[in-house]
Amino acid sequence: MKFKSIFGYFSLGLTFAALTSASSASAQNLQSVSNYSQAHEDLLASQSHILDQIKVDEVQEFASKLYEDLEPESEVFSICWESEHVDAYAGSGIEIPDKQDIDVSDYCMPCTSNVITSNYGYRRRFGRMHKGIDLRAQVGDTVRAAFDGKIRLTKYERRGYGYYVVMRHENGLETVYGHLSRFLVKPNDYVKAGDPIALSGNTGRSTGPHLHFETRFMGYAINPTAIFDFKNRTTHTDVYTFNKRTYKRSRNYAPASYASSGKQYHKIRRGDSLSKIAARYHTTVSKLCALNGISRNATIRAGRSLRVR
Ligand SMILES: [Zn+2]
Repeated sequence: MKFKSIFGYFSLGLTFAALTSASSASAQNLQSVSNYSQAHEDLLASQSHILDQIKVDEVQEFASKLYEDLEPESEVFSICWESEHVDAYAGSGIEIPDKQDIDVSDYCMPCTSNVITSNYGYRRRFGRMHKGIDLRAQVGDTVRAAFDGKIRLTKYERRGYGYYVVMRHENGLETVYGHLSRFLVKPNDYVKAGDPIALSGNTGRSTGPHLHFETRFMGYAINPTAIFDFKNRTTHTDVYTFNKRTYKRSRNYAPASYASSGKQYHKIRRGDSLSKIAARYHTTVSKLCALNGISRNATIRAGRSLRVR
């Protein structure tokens, strides 16, 4: 046992001390005592070196972190950098690349829950796009930065996002976190993937506590489920390829290949009929009617959307 052995050494030490003090100090004994104290000093000396080494390492680590912060800012944080609008690129005249590889390998899920309560896509009932997804969350749950980056804005929109945060990331993506109850960051703060940035809530246009989460590339709202596999709390691939062509029909529209819920919509054009649309989407008129809650004789108007899947 450890205790026993320490005790053993302790008794030996006492015996040794008693012996040396009791007996007349012979040269041999003095020699061994001085050897011992020399060894002791050497030990202390080497110990102090170890401490110095630790301190140097710590200082070096600290200095490198300082240096990291002093590195010249990447262009990603200077072009179209402002703290007013969700889409900082709109109207800037900046050219959006046709294709862009985005490194999404160093990520963190934005909240603990992986339950999607509302998908990305066109909301026919409201006649507008839902540019992100809703994740189940309670008021006060921690919201975390999805990637390394810098806080672009923290704002309040009574009829929209409520309290929300927009972050820009080194990989060029931007993420939006909405309906929050509290900010833990402010504009221009640097944060790492996984750092807490806010607490979730139920502010703005929200019918219950949840986290509204968007992923955007230069203003284009990408379906977050095209990048993240929420169910398995991971990303689908290390590199996500943004392809502007998939947004051709309308800016910010859902890329067809990632129709998240399996639902698909057709924008009605002049001259369209239910049978024409049914033929085009390899479905039947009665299925279209059932999906949209309309009768076969219903008038369909150009510009409106019709659910086809
Ligand atoms: Zn939402």
